[in-house]
Amino acid sequence: MLELIGWRQPIDYVFFIYLLAGLGPAFYRPPNGVWAQKGKLVHTLSIRDQVFRQFFESSPTVALVVDLADGKIVAANAAAITFYGWPHDTLLSMTMSQINTMPPDGMAKLLAHLNQAKSGLFHFQHRLASGEVVDVESSNTAIEVAGRRLCLVIVHDLSEQKRAEESLWLARRAMDASATGLTIADGRQPDLPLIYANPAFLQMTGYTRDEVQGRNCRFLQNDDRNQPELDTLRAAIKKGQPCEVILRNYRKDGTAFWNEITIAPVFDAAGLITHYIGTQKDISDRKAAEAHVERLAYFDSLTDLPNRRLFLDRLASNLALSIRNDTHGVAAVLDLDNFKNLNDAEGPDMGDLLLREIASRLQSCLREGDTAARLGGDEFAILLTNLSADGTTAAQLGRTILERIGKSIEVPLALGSIQHQLTTSIGAVVFPTGKEAPADILQKANTALDRSKAAGKNTISYFEAAMQDHVQRRVTMERDLRTAVESGEFRMFLQPQVLGNGTIIGAEALIRWQHPTKGLVPPLDFIPVAEETGLIVDIGEWIFRQACQTVKRLEAWNNGLRIAVNVSPRQFRMANFPTRMAAIIEEVGIKPHQVAMEVTEAVFFDNLSHAVATMNELKSLGVRLSLDDFGTGYSSLSYLQKLPIAELKIDRSFIKDAPTNPNDAALVEAILAVARQRKLDVVAEGVESVKHVDFLKSRGCRVFQGYYFGRPVPAEEFVAAIEKPQVDPSAG
Ligand code: C2E
Ligand code: CA
Ligand code: CA
Repeated sequence: MLELIGWRQPIDYVFFIYLLAGLGPAFYRPPNGVWAQKGKLVHTLSIRDQVFRQFFESSPTVALVVDLADGKIVAANAAAITFYGWPHDTLLSMTMSQINTMPPDGMAKLLAHLNQAKSGLFHFQHRLASGEVVDVESSNTAIEVAGRRLCLVIVHDLSEQKRAEESLWLARRAMDASATGLTIADGRQPDLPLIYANPAFLQMTGYTRDEVQGRNCRFLQNDDRNQPELDTLRAAIKKGQPCEVILRNYRKDGTAFWNEITIAPVFDAAGLITHYIGTQKDISDRKAAEAHVERLAYFDSLTDLPNRRLFLDRLASNLALSIRNDTHGVAAVLDLDNFKNLNDAEGPDMGDLLLREIASRLQSCLREGDTAARLGGDEFAILLTNLSADGTTAAQLGRTILERIGKSIEVPLALGSIQHQLTTSIGAVVFPTGKEAPADILQKANTALDRSKAAGKNTISYFEAAMQDHVQRRVTMERDLRTAVESGEFRMFLQPQVLGNGTIIGAEALIRWQHPTKGLVPPLDFIPVAEETGLIVDIGEWIFRQACQTVKRLEAWNNGLRIAVNVSPRQFRMANFPTRMAAIIEEVGIKPHQVAMEVTEAVFFDNLSHAVATMNELKSLGVRLSLDDFGTGYSSLSYLQKLPIAELKIDRSFIKDAPTNPNDAALVEAILAVARQRKLDVVAEGVESVKHVDFLKSRGCRVFQGYYFGRPVPAEEFVAAIEKPQVDPSAG
């Protein structure tokens, strides 16, 4: 700024300084218009003069000195030069009329007025070098300096103020128009009363402006003061910090809504809070949507119980808590024993009703803090927390509660006119035992559940370390089994089915696994794993093809031998099972009625009508169907008429004691009688002795299978025996 003005006309400054200080006599101007030398003059200025000069020079206020005789500008300070935009020299060659927009005669009158009145405050419009015209407030003070009538003009730019007023007005409009609730509270009063609330706020809360004016915002909480977020809000106000909270608020009509509030303090120049500005937004809809999503994500929609994810979540947090507090809990999984039958028989609506009923029974057995969850299907889970510091005691307490749950599930349930009774198998595990993850705990409970089911259902088992070995063995077996499928380690054995006189009429194919290290593994050791892993599908197809090929080979002997193959439920339920079997029959090129399929009652569990449809499809292919292990499953004799089967196989367990045990004898007799009535063939399994043969023959049984007539032998051996002249085994 100093450079802009320079020291080229220092006498002006001297003049001004004295002018400002009211020391008029210092004004001096040589008549010839030649100014004194700079150096000389500076020396003539006192310290006080210099201070005044500096003061004028650096004053931010626009100041001019005008000669009242002709309106000429005789001095201008740095602020004036910046404001008007003309160079210093130019400005000093101008008159006020070139700056002030008033007409020349007005200007003449003004100068005359000032000459008499000495001072006055005016609103003018001044022209700038840029051509812009701005509103100014001009303070004019007339003075006499060395006999000249001059006027000190102090100019305030009003356009800034105007702009500020305008933006204030705009801000106010914006606040009024905002869809978000806006409030301003007086921060200097202890109770922070509202001094402004916009229409959106009033609409959201249902109050009028008068009803909210002067009140603290807490009236929105009614009596609902016990909200943790309120503490956050209070703490922020105490510290004078901005904050954001979500509060349960109430409208004037008493209805609740979720209010998302932000407050921000406004400070004055001294750093004291003058106001609080608040935004308030009704987010009830968003909250409801969030709650809905949460319910979908964490709760089972049928029973409203927590789902697997939430169960694992709670298990995880409880696990951490138990470790910290040195206490034990119990996690359990429940599987309803006969739900599937019931669901099939009564339809899915009844099934749903039943699951809901079970859910409410589970919950009524639990203490607060415990969890009942639905994992899926008819599988539930229970979390019993904080039972005891001692693991064994926790297990005992857990068992008591789980027994109570088991009993409550057994209470018969009337659905429509029918009473249903369910039982449940339970697998449980005490936690924590180490650093296991929640999923591991659930896995252990499942292992224990398997034990319960194997033990005849309606049982509670706890996970034991020994079961872990079992699980480990299973994992190994699964891996080995996959290799076995790929490298063809299976062998087909055949066991003859004979008439009373020993004539072989067919054979049952029984699979063996030629394990590279364990030797010959019996089917019961690996079929269940193959079933669970789905490997049974490949294995089943392999043995069926083997059976067909053997039939093909024996065709030459024209003896009509039929080979029966066991079909596992999983294989049977496969969507295109009949088609795939038909393809194999055709590929090998045999007559379909020369193969039979043995199925157990387990294939009906899931979906009876689908099972019957599959059976009909197989039957229409010409394949003979045989119901295996008859008497051990759920199906009653009355079931039989629905099924397109040709044959029953009486389970070995009934045959075993039939000659000596009257109960078993009666059962075998009943089966034979019904079979005769329904025109079904019967094969007696597990015929081991002549006593068995005699007993069965005398009750009208015609076909036998068992060690007495022949053990399962490798297929090649069986074929070789057929291909040699036949020997009557019963004669041997
Ligand atoms: P299953 O279908 O009931 O087969 C009859 C089982 O009884 C066979 O056991 C057979 O060796 C045995 N057995 C036959 N006669 C006698 C006897 O007089 N006394 C005694 N104590 N047992 C006798 P195996 O071969 O161990 O097969 C066991 C089960 O494994 C079979 O029971 C069947 O359910 C299943 N299985 C066998 N092969 C296959 C297969 O290829 N696929 C499928 N899915 N399951 C198979
Ligand atoms: Ca069988
Ligand atoms: Ca059987």
